[in-house]
Amino acid sequence: MLKTNTRQANWRRANPGKYDAHLAVQRAVKAGELTKQACEVCGDRAVDAHHDRYEEPLKVRWLCRRHHIKLHFYGEDMFPIRTTL
Ligand SMILES: [Zn+2]
Ligand SMILES: [Zn+2]
Repeated sequence: MLKTNTRQANWRRANPGKYDAHLAVQRAVKAGELTKQACEVCGDRAVDAHHDRYEEPLKVRWLCRRHHIKLHFYGEDMFPIRTTL
């Protein structure tokens, strides 16, 4: 019943550092150390954490699914980091 060959498991195996970073974010959000914010582009509240650098797992940018995909599609520097929000 437990399938390990899912898309997510494959992704996890291929990206161990990224997976750790995502886990760190989930833990930090649960612990209240990190607060989810609205998408920095459009303000959508359903957001993913995006890492500019996986070596800094708790330095994330919040992006909705649409803009997160867009950012990865066009490259990491598509959106300037807004300092005033
Ligand atoms: Zn957005
Ligand atoms: Zn991302």
